[in-house]
Amino acid sequence: MRCYVCAQEGGISESVAICVACGAALCMEHAIREEPELWEGDYPFPARVLKRRLPRFLCPECSAAFREGR
Ligand SMILES: [Zn+2]
Ligand SMILES: [Zn+2]
Repeated sequence: MRCYVCAQEGGISESVAICVACGAALCMEHAIREEPELWEGDYPFPARVLKRRLPRFLCPECSAAFREGR
Protein backbone atom coordinates (compact mmCIF):
# COMPACT_ATOMS: atom_id res chain seq x y z
CA MET A 1 0.00 0.00 0.00
CA ARG A 2 1.07 3.59 -0.55
CA CYS A 3 1.28 6.37 2.02
CA TYR A 4 -1.99 8.32 2.08
CA VAL A 5 -0.36 11.61 3.08
CA CYS A 6 2.27 11.39 0.36
CA ALA A 7 -0.45 10.51 -2.15
CA GLN A 8 -2.38 13.62 -1.13
CA GLU A 9 0.73 15.67 -1.88
CA GLY A 10 1.18 13.96 -5.20
CA GLY A 11 4.03 11.72 -4.08
CA ILE A 12 4.41 7.98 -3.86
CA SER A 13 5.89 6.22 -0.82
CA GLU A 14 5.56 2.67 0.33
CA SER A 15 3.63 2.51 3.60
CA VAL A 16 5.11 1.03 6.76
CA ALA A 17 2.23 1.65 9.17
CA ILE A 18 -1.51 2.22 9.38
CA CYS A 19 -3.23 5.03 11.26
CA VAL A 20 -5.32 3.30 13.94
CA ALA A 21 -7.89 6.10 13.89
CA CYS A 22 -8.69 6.56 10.21
CA GLY A 23 -7.02 3.57 8.63
CA ALA A 24 -4.77 5.55 6.31
CA ALA A 25 -1.54 3.89 5.20
CA LEU A 26 1.53 5.86 6.25
CA CYS A 27 5.18 5.96 5.26
CA MET A 28 7.98 6.17 7.83
CA GLU A 29 8.01 9.95 7.52
CA HIS A 30 4.30 10.41 8.20
CA ALA A 31 3.62 7.68 10.75
CA ILE A 32 3.43 9.21 14.23
CA ARG A 33 3.83 6.77 17.09
CA GLU A 34 1.83 7.73 20.14
CA GLU A 35 2.81 6.81 23.69
CA PRO A 36 0.45 4.24 25.25
CA GLU A 37 -0.51 6.48 28.19
CA LEU A 38 -1.92 9.02 25.76
CA TRP A 39 -4.59 6.53 24.89
CA GLU A 40 -6.23 6.28 28.26
CA GLY A 41 -9.40 8.22 28.88
CA ASP A 42 -12.57 8.81 26.98
CA TYR A 43 -11.33 10.17 23.71
CA PRO A 44 -13.33 8.45 20.96
CA PHE A 45 -10.46 6.77 19.24
CA PRO A 46 -10.54 2.98 18.91
CA ALA A 47 -7.88 2.50 21.59
CA ARG A 48 -10.03 0.27 23.75
CA VAL A 49 -10.36 -2.46 21.17
CA LEU A 50 -6.58 -2.76 21.00
CA LYS A 51 -4.48 -4.58 23.53
CA ARG A 52 -2.03 -2.41 25.42
CA ARG A 53 1.55 -2.15 24.21
CA LEU A 54 0.70 -2.70 20.58
CA PRO A 55 2.42 -0.08 18.47
CA ARG A 56 -0.10 2.61 17.68
CA PHE A 57 0.46 4.91 14.80
CA LEU A 58 -1.46 7.98 13.78
CA CYS A 59 -1.39 10.04 10.62
CA PRO A 60 -0.45 13.73 11.06
CA GLU A 61 -4.10 14.76 10.79
CA CYS A 62 -5.40 12.36 13.43
CA SER A 63 -2.43 13.10 15.68
CA ALA A 64 -3.27 16.81 15.57
CA ALA A 65 -6.95 16.12 16.28
CA PHE A 66 -6.00 13.76 19.08
CA ARG A 67 -3.75 16.31 20.77
CA GLU A 68 -6.28 19.12 20.38
CA GLY A 69 -8.92 16.93 21.96
CA ARG A 70 -6.99 16.51 25.18
ZN1 LIG B 1 4.16 9.73 3.53
ZN1 LIG C 1 -5.52 9.08 10.66
